[in-house]
Amino acid sequence: MAGRHTLTIVKPDAFGAGKAGLIIALLEKHGFVVKAARVMHLSTEQAGGFYAVHAARPFYGELVEFMSSGPCMPLLLERDDAVATLRTVIGATDPAEAAEGTVRKLYAESKGRNAIHASDSDENAAIEAAFFFAGADTI
Ligand code: UDP
Ligand code: MG
Repeated sequence: MAGRHTLTIVKPDAFGAGKAGLIIALLEKHGFVVKAARVMHLSTEQAGGFYAVHAARPFYGELVEFMSSGPCMPLLLERDDAVATLRTVIGATDPAEAAEGTVRKLYAESKGRNAIHASDSDENAAIEAAFFFAGADTI
């Protein structure tokens, strides 16, 4: 059965543009409950580690540079069918292909600077939640 938790990050482009509140409000409108949150400026080592799965991809260097370019906001979210629902709510990776009303359609600048991250499986949600919130209080 699909799990009730997923990990999202309001990326540095959206956080720096003051869109975190609007994005969280949209997620809450879709039934997500914030269980844990923090604001942090990732080092290149942290950004590279988080996205290690993409290390061989041509965009990896640019992605690590972008994700460590300013503060971001990781959040642990809860709702039924969390991973699949959040992927629908954020929209396609490239905002030009994202559906109307999705976070990326509304707030992303480009395929690289695309406002938000979301876990792509229950397994990765657990790994990514531990990356940011291991040992943290969750309610
Ligand atoms: N990305 C990029 N160029 C690409 C594909 C991805 O810059 O051609 C960046 C983008 O920020 C994306 C992240 O790398 O969100 C991770 O890529 P993935 O394919 O996992 O997309 P996502 O799961 O975020 O939709
Ligand atoms: Mg992905």
